[in-house]
Amino acid sequence: MYCMSNHSSESLYQHYRLLLGLRSPWEVSDVDLRVGESRVTVSVDWPKGQKPCCPDCGASCDIHDHAPQRRWRHLDTMQFETVIVSRTPRVDCSECGVKTIGIPWAEPRSRFTLLFEALAVETIGACRSLKQAGALLSLSYDQLQRIMDRAVRRGMGRREQRPVRRVGVDEKSFRRGHGYASIMTDLDQSRVLEVVENRDGEAAKALFDSLGINARQIHAVAMDMWPAFMGAAALKAPEAVVVHDRFHVSKHLNEAMDSIRKSENKELSSQGKDYLKGTKYLFLRSSQSWNDDHREMFQIVKDLSLKVAKAWAAKDAFSEFWSFRNRGQALAFFNNWRRWVGRLKLGPLTKASDMLKRHLDGLLNYSMYPITNAASEGFNSKIQSLISNARGYRRFENLRTAILFHCGKLDMCPLKTQ
Ligand SMILES: [Zn+2]
Repeated sequence: MYCMSNHSSESLYQHYRLLLGLRSPWEVSDVDLRVGESRVTVSVDWPKGQKPCCPDCGASCDIHDHAPQRRWRHLDTMQFETVIVSRTPRVDCSECGVKTIGIPWAEPRSRFTLLFEALAVETIGACRSLKQAGALLSLSYDQLQRIMDRAVRRGMGRREQRPVRRVGVDEKSFRRGHGYASIMTDLDQSRVLEVVENRDGEAAKALFDSLGINARQIHAVAMDMWPAFMGAAALKAPEAVVVHDRFHVSKHLNEAMDSIRKSENKELSSQGKDYLKGTKYLFLRSSQSWNDDHREMFQIVKDLSLKVAKAWAAKDAFSEFWSFRNRGQALAFFNNWRRWVGRLKLGPLTKASDMLKRHLDGLLNYSMYPITNAASEGFNSKIQSLISNARGYRRFENLRTAILFHCGKLDMCPLKTQ
């Protein structure tokens, strides 16, 4: 405790009372400064003789007893870690029984004051990793996790249940080998709406269910050509138009082309020819991103009339499909493209083209609803960095919290509830 006259300790207590933003009649009864530990502990009490109100019915009640002492971390003052301690009174209400009264400086069950928690939410949001936030705030991983859990619960509770018109549904691997999450994104407002574990039909249904009755207001959903997701959309958002995501389509075409390259490279290598050595990324790129070396390499492969060059040309040409804003023109383009691919007789490419044919309706819908998971692709890189910073998530719940915390555009500040 400070060694000073009664008068100056009174004004110090008053100073801390203002600093902590304490509301009447709470008062500061002690300030214990430990210079060696860089810590100041402020005792806050309910004044004797004051009648508190029952937290449930609001009736003015007698004090029954005091709850055991609790501690709350507050904002540092002058680089001193500042802690509030208090024994909260419990009232004896004739209607409701014995109840602990509410405290104005913290949320129930939190070990931090509202102001500290608000600072922590801001800091975590601004940091590249939890480790960095933990170092700045002197908090453990578990403490940060609980602050984020509460912040996301707060934000999700405040989110308005307004219709969303265009959404994306996508999956994300969060643990090596297994461990998937399905993510729903609001494409108009570029925010993640919900994250659920697994990537099956049940997971996709849960995503739509999270929107409640608003699922029926969705106009269009962007997704991969995945039966589980398509089935869930048909069931839960029957009015919505399914639009197959162009980035997934281009991934399927790239995979087909790459398997053609691999087997052709194997065949050539067995004859001692290494034309295709080191060309993997040349073919995975689009021609717009080639440099002079790439163009020269491609010319050689093309002049040799290799299969991979033909497959690449078919893949590259397909990108024009996305430019049509008229369903009939898009269909005519597709039919021409498919005839060309059929003549090439390249197994994996034919298979990919058959898959596109089976999902033609969802592909043609792009001409009317040009939406993609591009917003969620942007989130994907953010989510990917969250995962690698956390070295893979062991608990799905923590991944969900992190994604919604950083990509949910939630109002998570604890001060606004007051
Ligand atoms: Zn009561």
